[in-house]
Amino acid sequence: MGKILVVRGDITRERTDAIVNAANCSLLGGGGVDGAIHRAAGPRLLDECRTLGGCRTGEAKITGGYDLPAKHVIHTPGPIWHGGERGEDALLRSCYLNSLRLASENGCKTVAFPSISTGVYHFPLERAAEIAIAAIRDYLAAHEEIEEVRMVCFDGFTQRCYQAALDAAEGR
Ligand code: ADP
Repeated sequence: MGKILVVRGDITRERTDAIVNAANCSLLGGGGVDGAIHRAAGPRLLDECRTLGGCRTGEAKITGGYDLPAKHVIHTPGPIWHGGERGEDALLRSCYLNSLRLASENGCKTVAFPSISTGVYHFPLERAAEIAIAAIRDYLAAHEEIEEVRMVCFDGFTQRCYQAALDAAEGR
């Protein structure tokens, strides 16, 4: 089974086959990690995104990486947190699974994720980390083609939450 690593850093610097963007449904850029990815990839990324017709929450679409070190960007709009009764957990899980499915279909062996939905979308961090780690582990167990998934955390608190979720899932 492929390995999962929790690291601290800026996802725009990752040299993985694909990085995942916590996008919004327009796919036309935004703040947070989305803005950072568009700035680092250059304007050709937005040009390609304009051709995609947006994306539903929990689904995913792939583009080139342009000026990024990563070959591809997988764009997935995470759920906005409304208190947990509007399908947020299942939608967040779908973001991870649909992104990994697109990675497999496009020959990506290494994938980097940001912490989807836990910024301006306000999904509770510990709950998001458990869902993310469970989804990634379930996918990797069934798909040998993905060799490494990196959870790239922008701050120390986020990193500690994902590391704790990974340690719990792996029985450490
Ligand atoms: P969402 O709208 O899905 O909540 P945000 O971009 O607001 O997305 O936040 C998601 C996470 O991405 C937050 O933990 C935020 O700190 C983090 N983040 C912001 N910039 C970067 C970056 N360059 N690399 C990795 N993570 C980042």
